[in-house]
Amino acid sequence: MRILIVEDEHKIASAIKRGLEQQSYAVDVSYDADDGLAMATTEPYDLIILDRMLPGSLDGIGILRTLRDQNNHTPVLLLTAKDRVLDRAEGLNAGADDYLVKPFAFVELIARVRALLRRSPQATNSVIEYDDLSLNTLTKTVERSGNNIQLTSKEFALLEYFMRNPERIVSKDALIQHVWNYDADILPNTVEVYMGYLRGKIDKPFKQSKPLLHTRRGFGYYFGTV
Ligand code: CA
Repeated sequence: MRILIVEDEHKIASAIKRGLEQQSYAVDVSYDADDGLAMATTEPYDLIILDRMLPGSLDGIGILRTLRDQNNHTPVLLLTAKDRVLDRAEGLNAGADDYLVKPFAFVELIARVRALLRRSPQATNSVIEYDDLSLNTLTKTVERSGNNIQLTSKEFALLEYFMRNPERIVSKDALIQHVWNYDADILPNTVEVYMGYLRGKIDKPFKQSKPLLHTRRGFGYYFGTV
């Protein structure tokens, strides 16, 4: 799942980015309104964390209104420094899905982020199961046939994306867009390399089970028992 943070306070933005990356999310940061709006409209984010007060030609509410006017319904969590009823109403009226008043505890932010991502059509449950494989998005654990599998953060994100999009062709571009962030060093074979790691942990050790990760040459990848 890929998240955009639009927040001009660098310290807060980096703290949120770090925390979310530890939860296996791919995260981009924008520090002003115009750049933030440009990124939000060009990249396929699963969630946007938007600060209300921003430098630039628009504030957070302006970005939100523009996105909704453009029929962009990416979930938005609005951060506001003001704890006034009027501001909350204004944010929700402009199309925010939730808001958080600064200063906030990181655990609270994570809880809101998870709740919003659960609402999105791709995500409904914290435990995703397919065949004898199960992935828990809360505890970040993966099991196959009752065996615990250790994955790195990126492998976990990749597998989560496949398990949310089973039994269909997933292009390499879609994987890059949803699993890696803007600054990531994506080499031509990065996805293949990670697919190799993932196969080595998910499929290869489980000879009694059906392979789940398949390459569809010229199209991309397919997750499923075929
Ligand atoms: Ca601000």
